Amino acid sequence: MIGAGIIGALIGRELAGRGLGVVLLDPEPGRGASIGNAGMIVPSFTRPMADPATLWEGLRAMTGGDPLLTVGSLSPAVLTWLARFAVAARPGRAGRSAARLVGPARTAADEYANLAAETGIDLSVAGDGWLQVARSPAVLRRRLLLARALTKNGVDHEVLTQAELRAREPELGPDLAGAVFFPGDSSLDPAAATRAALVAAELRGVIIHSARVISLVRRHGEVTAVKTDLGEFNATHYVLANGAGPPGGRGVQPGWGWSIDVPAKHPPISTPLMGLDDHVVCNPLPDRIRITGGMRIGGTPEDRHDHAATTAIQQAAEQLVPALHDLCEGTITITRAARPMTPNGLPRVARTGRNLITATGHGTLGMTLAPATATTVAQLLGHGGHRAEVSR
Ligand SMILES: Cc1cc2nc3c(=O)[nH]c(=O)nc-3n(C[C@H](O)[C@H](O)[C@H](O)COP(=O)(O)OP(=O)(O)OC[C@H]3O[C@@H](n4cnc5c(N)ncnc54)[C@H](O)[C@@H]3O)c2cc1C
Repeated sequence: MIGAGIIGALIGRELAGRGLGVVLLDPEPGRGASIGNAGMIVPSFTRPMADPATLWEGLRAMTGGDPLLTVGSLSPAVLTWLARFAVAARPGRAGRSAARLVGPARTAADEYANLAAETGIDLSVAGDGWLQVARSPAVLRRRLLLARALTKNGVDHEVLTQAELRAREPELGPDLAGAVFFPGDSSLDPAAATRAALVAAELRGVIIHSARVISLVRRHGEVTAVKTDLGEFNATHYVLANGAGPPGGRGVQPGWGWSIDVPAKHPPISTPLMGLDDHVVCNPLPDRIRITGGMRIGGTPEDRHDHAATTAIQQAAEQLVPALHDLCEGTITITRAARPMTPNGLPRVARTGRNLITATGHGTLGMTLAPATATTVAQLLGHGGHRAEVSR
């Protein structure tokens, strides 16, 4: 297995639990996007980004210099990605795709609770739902339309007026038009979840090596080995779960985002929320609030991009929850992470060679879809309870 983020770790745990011998190769196990995300487990957010509204919003943000939505490179690969995104953003497609992802997303919170029980690690799984709040009435109306469309897939929602929202979360800012509340969404501490997935994998017998895979060696359509900085590894089957990293799945680009951890013994909000106008998320965890946001497609951000993005994320969060202003004056921790983005916004979990399975491209939904992906990969391997040979 190549890559030990939440996807690779949960696949490794699943396969080892079914009796397979598994080796995970990763230069920095559990240090990728899986620890730098918002920690939301969200059936309500399964609609892929590639839709006409996001395309329009993206064009407006990029031409208007919005630091939260940018293109990091104009390389041929990124331009191809953008063109394929535009093609995928045709009307009606995102709704149909969401319908396919809701089912897997709905099982995730229970799976993480099982993971906590298996490892004894507290993942701070909370089934408090998700508030999606808007400053602009037009933005709120658009979200409501999408929420109504999801009802037929079993995703419930409630509409909260300004007054109802304030009664529920008194510390929210004054200029909010209202909210859509999704009671079926959950949240967790993503770093704890990723750590637990790795611990559970090892408890089930998975061997983890801190090795970077440089290339896959192929012969007659089969992968025969992986070359790494620690030498070559051979296996009967190979699983590529390396997120946005090279050697990448076809067409996957990094979608850089940022998280800001703000220590807070008594967080000013009790329910996780997202500001729909800026897509900034605030997740109250037991000892801190995690604020996340930003999307930079392609390239590698430099310090000045980090500064522009995190300043904008912080400002957007403070507009939602003014009490964050004082809390952010203390010591905060910033993490930059790359979502593995496919142009059509759908994960790529498939057999991509005779003995190769690719499980990447989970984009904005990797925490939500990781448990279901692990089961899918086990099914794709069609394992019969035998131990796959792994040697070095
Ligand atoms: C700001 C932000 C907020 C997000 N919020 C949410 C959310 O609320 N809910 C949700 O469901 N999802 C969210 N996501 C998305 C989620 O974090 C990702 O989809 C998920 O973490 C992807 O998991 P992964 O295991 O594929 O990738 P990663 O966690 O990045 O793991 C990939 C691993 O592969 C390794 N690797 C790379 N190249 C190689 C190589 N050559 N050889 C060996 N190993 C290699 C890396 O070291 C890394 O450990 C968010 C992401 C971001 C950035």
